[in-house]
Amino acid sequence: MTDQAESARYCGQCGERNPAVNRFCVECGARLLRSDELDAAGAIADTVDARLAGLAQLPEPAIVWPDDLPRQITGADGALLRLVPGGFFWMGTRERKPKKKDERPFHLVWLDPYYLDEHPVTMGQYARFLSASGHRKPASFTSRRRSPDDPEWARLPVTQVSWQDAQAYAKWAQRRLPTEAEWEKGARGVDGRTYPWGEEPPDGRAAFGDESALPDATGRFPNGVSPYGIQDLAGTVWEWCEDEYDQDFYPRGPPRNPCCRDAPHPPEADYRVLRGGSVQSSAFCLRATFRAFNLAKMTSPVYGFRCAADVARYRRP
Ligand SMILES: [Zn+2]
Repeated sequence: MTDQAESARYCGQCGERNPAVNRFCVECGARLLRSDELDAAGAIADTVDARLAGLAQLPEPAIVWPDDLPRQITGADGALLRLVPGGFFWMGTRERKPKKKDERPFHLVWLDPYYLDEHPVTMGQYARFLSASGHRKPASFTSRRRSPDDPEWARLPVTQVSWQDAQAYAKWAQRRLPTEAEWEKGARGVDGRTYPWGEEPPDGRAAFGDESALPDATGRFPNGVSPYGIQDLAGTVWEWCEDEYDQDFYPRGPPRNPCCRDAPHPPEADYRVLRGGSVQSSAFCLRATFRAFNLAKMTSPVYGFRCAADVARYRRP
């Protein structure tokens, strides 16, 4: 339904006027229901949606470890992946008037369970992909300060990879890129914290803040782990996500397993999301809510990625 009455709606909680496409209030994050989200009888068809709309009791999100999924698995490329259990988490910034409006609103999102790489993909892993696939060699293989003879070389995060390069690797490794929501939940857990470890500043917990530095080896900051035991999410390298970038996606995106595939850009402007900040970033960019983006074809000495995996094949009977 797209009649005149649907062109805007007022939030029942705070009174903010929202565009009709919004599913969350841009001001307060309250769930707004669209007519296409109601079934024929006018009831909310989906139980998750019903809870989000306040029509059923919604407990504060919690990490609940399931019995039927291993906490840790090994990918086809030898990478370790950590389980992120399904359920609600708080996405976006708590600030009502943030410097970057694209982090608004603070809202509840439901994600099915998934696995996320414990570390960004490394030079050692990417080298095996190149030998097996004949894929284009990134510039980082010839321009790095460490040589391949250095034992630390294989643990450097791979860089100067485009979003398409990251996709090709993920497919080869029988995985996929995380969605922006999966990246954020993997980094901050369910309680809306600022950094993977909580609220303390990132000093001693992440590689950041040096504009002339290049990313060093992964796994050097055990104090920087997320609630799921995932490392290097803040700092080191910016990480490509699956989503197209849309500054207005949070209020209009679905509350369940969101992933932006319809950003209002022309096809030649294929902007994709980058998360987590790099060794060159300020602490502000290391916040788990910070949304960066670039054209999918772009590469940088501080752009890398990690992969995610669906849980179906790992479920125990
Ligand atoms: Zn509101």
